[in-house]
Amino acid sequence: MEGQTARAKEIPPPIQMLQIISGFWVARCVYVVAKLAIADLIKDESKTADELATATGTHGPSLFRVLRALAAVGVITQDSRNRFGGTPLSQTLCSGPGSIRAFAMTELGEEHYPAWGELLYSVRTGGIAFDKAFGEPVWEFFAKNAENAQIFNEAMSGMTTLANEAMHAAYEFAGINTIIDVGGGHGGLITGILKKNPSMRGILFDAPQVIEGAKTSIQSSGVAERCELVSGDFFKSVPEGGDAIVMKWIIHDWNDEQSVAIMKNCHRALPENGKLILIEAVVPETSEPHFSKFIDLNMLVITGGRERTEAEFRQLYEAAGFRLTRIVPSESPFSVIEGVKV
Ligand code: SAH
Repeated sequence: MEGQTARAKEIPPPIQMLQIISGFWVARCVYVVAKLAIADLIKDESKTADELATATGTHGPSLFRVLRALAAVGVITQDSRNRFGGTPLSQTLCSGPGSIRAFAMTELGEEHYPAWGELLYSVRTGGIAFDKAFGEPVWEFFAKNAENAQIFNEAMSGMTTLANEAMHAAYEFAGINTIIDVGGGHGGLITGILKKNPSMRGILFDAPQVIEGAKTSIQSSGVAERCELVSGDFFKSVPEGGDAIVMKWIIHDWNDEQSVAIMKNCHRALPENGKLILIEAVVPETSEPHFSKFIDLNMLVITGGRERTEAEFRQLYEAAGFRLTRIVPSESPFSVIEGVKV
């Protein structure tokens, strides 16, 4: 940290600011590489821009400029014969488990990016930038745009796979008989939990079109016979029959009133002493750097939700009839927040 501060001090402030301002240029170049699946193409052997343009149906000279810029910031390599090659950084965009290619596509592509263009609208009005840009809430947009929704769901699964290990190292799900993953997307979390706990059963619950899309990945997960799929609307009800409910990256999508409504539905579905486990980033009260402070902005512009401090989570639990019992930090930016039905 000290080293970083010292280095930052050597860079004149206008240059530092230019680096910040042009950050979105770099991010958009990453989007192009992610969308065109270029990381896979250069994983094993370097290729020229023309070769990559032929493989991706794009304009070689323009692709060259994007690749040259990405090589200049270390995302890929460029050799003396202008062949571009992979790096550990670009490999994060290769396909396969734990890939963040879909995350790059969903965050930097067709929906989140135009919504961020309306950040100032959110700041001026408190309204949801996505709704301003698209004329409807994000979940309705995804219900109508299957391709975008598929990429979003893949992005969530990819991030979940990345966070799973840290989560399991931090928190013991053992002792639960049946766990219900409310808003569980394509099941990246619940299949991980069931694999680690061979006698546990699970229910994956999400909107109908998402559950439909989850079928293939659940069937090939190795735990399909212990994982029931149920679809519905968590504002109406959530499935009963579990002694614990887990919700990962759900509550941060909603304002306090909506969050309490979802949590009250969980309360109704759980037995006495049932656990409500949230997996969320907890925003530190102090000014320290923390990823949560930026996911929070993503929630401001996309869903109208927010990231919360420990005190804010405690209030939500109490308002829904739970007692927050503990917050277990993990090696990722996410914590496991546990509450019990009282
Ligand atoms: N828990 C998953 C997905 C988080 S994204 C993960 O961490 O990977 C939020 C999820 O909430 C999406 O899968 C979305 O389809 C679901 N969702 C949004 N509104 C819903 C509703 N009214 N009822 C049920 N699920 C809903």
